[in-house]
Amino acid sequence: MAKAHKLDCEAAAADCRFIIQSEDEEEAVELARKHMKDVHGQEYTDEELRADHLQVV
Ligand SMILES: [Zn+2]
Repeated sequence: MAKAHKLDCEAAAADCRFIIQSEDEEEAVELARKHMKDVHGQEYTDEELRADHLQVV
């Protein structure tokens, strides 16, 4: 079974219910970075997102 890369934004921002889940890590990182910038006004690098925010489920 393929693994999925998941970002649960609630873990980073308590009032946000945004969840990303994708089997494509690049897509998950891209979506996560865009969400963090557009919604939370915070810039993360791909490495930061991979290391600190994305879970593999
Ligand atoms: Zn969010």
